[in-house]
Amino acid sequence: MLLGLLAPPRCLSCRAPLVRAAAGPGLCGPCAAAVERSSPVAFRADAIDGGIAPLPYEGTGRRLVAALKFGRLAVVAELGATLIADRAPAGWLEATIVPVPAAPLRARRRGLDPAWELASALVGQTGAAAAPALRRRDRRHQRGRSRAERLARPPVVDAVADAPRRALLIDDVVTTGATIDACARALRLAGSVEVRALALAAVPPRRAVGDREPAP
Ligand SMILES: [Zn+2]
Repeated sequence: MLLGLLAPPRCLSCRAPLVRAAAGPGLCGPCAAAVERSSPVAFRADAIDGGIAPLPYEGTGRRLVAALKFGRLAVVAELGATLIADRAPAGWLEATIVPVPAAPLRARRRGLDPAWELASALVGQTGAAAAPALRRRDRRHQRGRSRAERLARPPVVDAVADAPRRALLIDDVVTTGATIDACARALRLAGSVEVRALALAAVPPRRAVGDREPAP
């Protein structure tokens, strides 16, 4: 903790030292400019009514997702939630937030659940309602599996509570949409009539996803 206070602040994306201490979680000039320039990405899955991520899953967006998974989770989650909230279409945040559940082995380690942390930060910033209504039953990691494998064998998700009528799924990154789709189907089976999704970053739909992407 003390080291954190003494070390110069660094950009949350590229780790470059920040010349001026940022008031809150900070990005360096080039990374902040890259975020400003980027357009939100619309992603698709059969069972959702719409999906938006503020950043494409490349460059700064990709580095922030990595920082969420392996780095300073809480501060990056606050920044990620701010970006998601700023770029969410009007009215979407009036639904009940449902974090995309981590695979069981990961969920045990509380500090390593990016979707949960993003959802918590979003609730804190917006005052939205939240319901952790979903559970993953499969133990497979999506990471390291090819796009074809992920689409052929999506994660197994079911509802553990009454699903909100209007649900808003939150995840850190969307690549194939297989996980989001499984979550949305489980919510609809449990009573949701509207399911939308927001993520920090997403692969633009028209772009092919390379095999062995290091992401769920
Ligand atoms: Zn930077």
